[in-house]
Amino acid sequence: MHPRLSVFLLLVAFLLPCSALSQNLDALTGAYPDSLCGSCASWNAPQEPFRLYHNSYFVGTHGLSAILITDPAGHILLDGGLPNSAPLILENIQTLGFDPGDIALILNSHVHYDHAGGIAAIQRVSGARVAAGPASAPVLERGTSGPDDPQYGVLFDIPAIPDVEVFTPGDTLRVGSLEVVSHATAGHTPGGTTWSWQSCDADRCLNLVYADSQTPVSANDFRYTDSAAYPTALDDFEQGFETLETMPCDILITTHPGASSVWERWAKGPEGLIDPTACQQYAARARQQLEERIRQETAGSQNGE
Ligand SMILES: [Zn+2]
Repeated sequence: MHPRLSVFLLLVAFLLPCSALSQNLDALTGAYPDSLCGSCASWNAPQEPFRLYHNSYFVGTHGLSAILITDPAGHILLDGGLPNSAPLILENIQTLGFDPGDIALILNSHVHYDHAGGIAAIQRVSGARVAAGPASAPVLERGTSGPDDPQYGVLFDIPAIPDVEVFTPGDTLRVGSLEVVSHATAGHTPGGTTWSWQSCDADRCLNLVYADSQTPVSANDFRYTDSAAYPTALDDFEQGFETLETMPCDILITTHPGASSVWERWAKGPEGLIDPTACQQYAARARQQLEERIRQETAGSQNGE
């Protein structure tokens, strides 16, 4: 076979999920068309991987976070970006000197195409387990969100992932000596999860937090204040804010790095990433956004809209 053809077929096999192709996903590039996803190209801009602290690394793209936590017994990967982020994330992992085949467990913040779209391809390459909470696991397996997602109807489907293990929110997930704790921080989606763990070098241990999106973004016909499809949305947000405000948090990384000034902090050097107030600030901004959203919905009702 011509070498170029074999590379092409390898690429196609790599990008195609087992299940039917996702809606609107280009089979050959694994990309959502720019005409339908105006932000996808900038989100997927390549990013040099870097160490967050000790055994924790940023391996995502410039606009979409992915975190690798390493252990000799196997690695944990948090999030997979867009479907066409998968090759970039895998390359970043190799650039750091790690073997993607050593990823043992893949976890997710929330099941939207920009954070879960690349998981199927990375799972196929690595053979890793994928685990998610009870609200997210069926969405990962179907590849399509349900009506309880505030953005239901305006989301792209993702390549479906077979055999997702289910954990209970609050559970600790383990690989070798690694322990990452799941925290329910829902509202943006019903299954939104924030992850925390400790990374320790010889001198000190730092608390790392990979915080999920907290923005009240929705389809036009969804209302957080009285949704029948997702009646606990406001309570879920509040519980998540309280969790983020009170958890030990030395280094915060958010699903979109820009939401927690990752690049400004990174520019100051490794110590610049540390900000024990970052989670509280993140929750405070999210609380303001939600209050504004509630005001808009309430005003809309009063205006008879
Ligand atoms: Zn989202």
